[in-house]
Amino acid sequence: MPYKFVQEHVWDKYLKKDRLPHIWCPGCGLGTALSAFLMGIELAKIDLDKLVVVSGIGCAGRAAGYLNVDTFHTTHGRPIPFAIGLKLARPDLHVVVFSGDGDLATIGGNHLIHAARRNHDILVICSNNFNYGMTGGQVGATTPENAITTTTPYGNLENPFDLPYLVTAAGAVYVARWTSLHVRRLAKSIAEALQLKGFRFIEVLSQCPTVYGRRNNMPTGLDMLKFFKENCVIKNYAHPKDVEIKPGKKIIIGKFIDKTEEKLSFEDKVWNLIKKLERGK
Ligand code: SF4
Repeated sequence: MPYKFVQEHVWDKYLKKDRLPHIWCPGCGLGTALSAFLMGIELAKIDLDKLVVVSGIGCAGRAAGYLNVDTFHTTHGRPIPFAIGLKLARPDLHVVVFSGDGDLATIGGNHLIHAARRNHDILVICSNNFNYGMTGGQVGATTPENAITTTTPYGNLENPFDLPYLVTAAGAVYVARWTSLHVRRLAKSIAEALQLKGFRFIEVLSQCPTVYGRRNNMPTGLDMLKFFKENCVIKNYAHPKDVEIKPGKKIIIGKFIDKTEEKLSFEDKVWNLIKKLERGK
């Protein structure tokens, strides 16, 4: 049965209503993260004909399919190179990658660091649910130490990536971390980042009660939101090396880096070169 909308909602214009209901579990943070993205588009007054959203595989990767703009659902770990190609060919577009930590930082990790290094002019919104949700809750590169997953039943022995530090060290010019609880701050950050240039990265800590929370004493979405409420501390401009997520420590969130004025994007350099070569003809 197709989903029937009872009345128009303020976000309806942004959504492909015939694709709803979405596949996300009750209590999942992805709906909130997507809603904050829509709020960010609205705040930034982005022309929907100039917005392209690219996602990869995983629960977060399904977001692109629900948006009423040009979207691409790419193969696993590859939304960033796809987005780069788009932006190089069409510098007039706002190109956003909306995907998950497993897709962007684990399987696609190499693309992430090199896109940041080259300062590609794209915004990457990375929903971090601390595991591979869609495939059943396996450990990933962002799973906190000691956390229980289906593949680490005795606790994760690996050291996770600190994503803000990783992308900052690689060269990202805008870096922020929020959670699915901090909706307005997240939306404002997305609105701001949408209007800037260069490689911009926003991590969204997002609850996955179904396969992560219930193995880690937070069986409902509300439990995970309470965890964010009690454990997150906003520290804007904290150095990303100090925001590692560690068991028993507060989670630092905020806008950490804004150096978008300091570097030309790769795309600007390419188009400057093309113009220069054309002038020299
Ligand atoms: Fe959300 Fe986790 Fe369910 Fe995926 S598995 S939809 S991340 S709650």
